[in-house]
Amino acid sequence: MLSVLMSTKEHLGSYQYRMKLKSIESGLVANLLRENDFSVALLHGTPTVLDFVEATGAALMVSGQLELVGRTPREEEVRCLLQWLSAHMEKEVFATDSLVTCLPEAAAYSDGASGLLALRFSKSKEDYMLWFRAEQVQSVNWAGDPGKPVDISGDQQRLMPRTSFAIWQEMVRRKSTPWLDVEKAAVEDLRLAILELVFRKADELGALYQNLERSHAQLDAFAYVASHDLKEPLRGIANYAVMLTEDYGDQLDEEGRNRLAALSRLSQRMDDLLNSLLEYSRVGRVNFADNEVDLNQVVADALETLRLRIAEQRTTVRLLGSLPMVRGDRSHLGEVLVNLISNAIKYNDKAEKWVEIGADSVSVFVRDNGIGILPEHSEQIFQIFRRLHGREEFGGGAGAGLTITKKIIERHGGRIWMESTPGETTTFRFTLAARDAG
Ligand code: ADP
Repeated sequence: MLSVLMSTKEHLGSYQYRMKLKSIESGLVANLLRENDFSVALLHGTPTVLDFVEATGAALMVSGQLELVGRTPREEEVRCLLQWLSAHMEKEVFATDSLVTCLPEAAAYSDGASGLLALRFSKSKEDYMLWFRAEQVQSVNWAGDPGKPVDISGDQQRLMPRTSFAIWQEMVRRKSTPWLDVEKAAVEDLRLAILELVFRKADELGALYQNLERSHAQLDAFAYVASHDLKEPLRGIANYAVMLTEDYGDQLDEEGRNRLAALSRLSQRMDDLLNSLLEYSRVGRVNFADNEVDLNQVVADALETLRLRIAEQRTTVRLLGSLPMVRGDRSHLGEVLVNLISNAIKYNDKAEKWVEIGADSVSVFVRDNGIGILPEHSEQIFQIFRRLHGREEFGGGAGAGLTITKKIIERHGGRIWMESTPGETTTFRFTLAARDAG
C-alpha cells in the first residue's frame, strides 16, 4: 500500500534528494544571515520553506506571532493545532501523513492539510515551523498522477487507475503523501543550523553590548576628567579677570572695562557648563540604590526645594491623586522631579501659571500651561547643551537638565518622553522599571 503512495521524489534516489534538501537548507540559512527577521528570511526570501520539503502550505510561529503562507488551515485552526502540538510533541520533529488520526478536529481542513511536518525550534520556547501537505486525492488530481499501473500488496492483482480510481481515492482520503525519513532528517538539520545561528547572533550582540557599555563608561570617565581638569585653569582665568579689574580697572577706558566684564561672564558660563558635564558624568558613574521609594514623598521634597521659586513665579501646583511606590534611588528620582517641575515653572509665559503632577496607568507625569515645545524638537531637548532659546531667555540654563533626567530614568530601566500643544501646554511623562507602571 505504501508503495502506491510513494512520492516521485523517492525515485530521484534518496542521495540526490538529500543533496537538494541540503542546498535549500543552505539557502534558508543564508537568508537568515542576511535578514534579522525570521519571517522575511524563511517565508519571503529565495528559497522559502515551501521549496524545502515540497509542502503545499507553511506556518511560522515566533514569539506569539503567527504567519501563514500557501495553502494552510485558518489562523485559529493553526493556533489550536499548535496548542495540541505543545502538549503532545515529544521530540523536536513530528510528522504525520494523516493528521486527522491524531487530531479529529483536523477533519475540518483535511483537504488542504492532511499531512503535517512540525518543527519546534527549542523546548523552552513555543516557536514552531509547520509544513502542510494537501490531501493525496487532490494533489494527485492536480499532478495528473497516477499515470502508471500500481501494485496492491497482498494479492497479486494488477489494478489499472482508469478503472479503479474510486477505490484508490477511498484509500488515500485524508492522507497526504508521506514525509520521507530524509525530509524529517533535513528539517532536524535546519533546526540545528538555525539554533547555531541564533546562538552566534546572541554572542555577537552580547559582545556589542559589552563594547557599548565600555565606551559609555569610558565617555563618562573622559567627561569627568575633562571637566574636572578644565575647571582648574578656568578658575585661574576668572581670578585674573577679577584681579585685572581691581588693580588696573581705573587705567582702562570703558571699552576695556566692558571686555574684562565679558571675560568674567564667559568664565562663569563655562564653569556652569563644566559643572553640568561633571553632574552628567557623575550620574553615569555612581551606583544607584535600589530601594522602595514613595514617589509622593519625593514630590513633596522637590516642592520644598522649589518653594521660593514657586512663590516668586506665582505658580499654582496641583497634585492629581496619589503617586505609586516604586523601586529606585530616592535622591536621583528627586533630581528628576526637581528638573521637570522647575522647567514647568520656568518655561511659562502665562499670567496664571500652573503645574500638575500625577500618575496614570502608563506613567508619572508633570504637566504645565507654559510655552509648549514643537514636535520637531521632541528629541533635541534631551541632548546635552541644546536649548531652544537665547542664553538669557527664561532665566537661562545650561541645557543639561533634561539630558541628566533622561539618564537617571534610563538607569532605572524606564523611559521619558514629552507631549505638547505649542503655546498651551507640555506634559513630560516617564516610566520606571515595568512594575511601577500601574
Ligand atoms: P535648560 O532648562 O537648562 O535649558 P533642559 O535640558 O532642562 O535645559 O531643557 C532643554 C530645553 O528644553 C530648554 O532650553 C527648553 O527650551 C526646553 N524645555 C524644557 N522643559 C520645558 C517645558 N516644560 N516647556 C517648554 N520647554 C521646555
